Amino acid sequence: MDLWGIWESFLDIVYPMDVRCLVCKEKRQDTLSHGVCRMCEESLPFIEPPSCPKCGKMMLADDTLCSDCARADHAFHKGLSVFEYGTEVKDLIYRYKYRGEKYLSNPMIHWMTRCLESCDWDFDVIVPVPLHPIRERQRGFNQADLLARGLSRNTGIPLMDKSLIRIRNTPQQARLSGHERRRNLMGAFRIRESGKGPGKRPRAFEGRTVLLVDDVYTTGNTADQCSRVLLGAGAGRVYIITLAIGSSL
Ligand SMILES: [Zn+2]
Ligand SMILES: [Zn+2]
Repeated sequence: MDLWGIWESFLDIVYPMDVRCLVCKEKRQDTLSHGVCRMCEESLPFIEPPSCPKCGKMMLADDTLCSDCARADHAFHKGLSVFEYGTEVKDLIYRYKYRGEKYLSNPMIHWMTRCLESCDWDFDVIVPVPLHPIRERQRGFNQADLLARGLSRNTGIPLMDKSLIRIRNTPQQARLSGHERRRNLMGAFRIRESGKGPGKRPRAFEGRTVLLVDDVYTTGNTADQCSRVLLGAGAGRVYIITLAIGSSL
């Protein structure tokens, strides 16, 4: 190695190589520990107060429910989300779910963990919103499960990803109207039965406070349907955290 080579390897130790940002894919010197450059981090639409005290949607004023929550009697206790669901975040979620960019779960889990640290929720199990097995096979993975796994790792709270299941392969919610969404999900979820015998009601969640995990929250219909099933199985309370939530402004 000549002198120049020695000098270059010395520089590599002192100034580590630029790291490619997971969001914009550019090589940046200021990439943060969760793999996102400062510019991306600062430009992403993080939810900021005031927000709806029930579902977490960004609002114009404090202490009032958003129009969705004012109408709906949600079965979940409270919801939180990291981002507003705009073009940028939509694209990020699309890359994560359909383009095989599963590594995007790393920054997503980081942001969701930070979001959980900012609130005073107490929960004792983490449950991902399940996909129907056929859909999961097509996609290759359950996007909510991967996020829930990371949250369980970061918080030390156990994951329960086998008990709540999806028994109907329903059309995608995004393509349906509000009324159709509600009908679409009726009876879509249930608790996996363990043990046999008549009258044996599965009480897998007896006395548990559950943190439900999903990628996107729109009207809260999925969260409600899952919550009803969990409450029916004995859960005391259900919280929901998602990466992105629709806007109400
Ligand atoms: Zn970037
Ligand atoms: Zn709300």
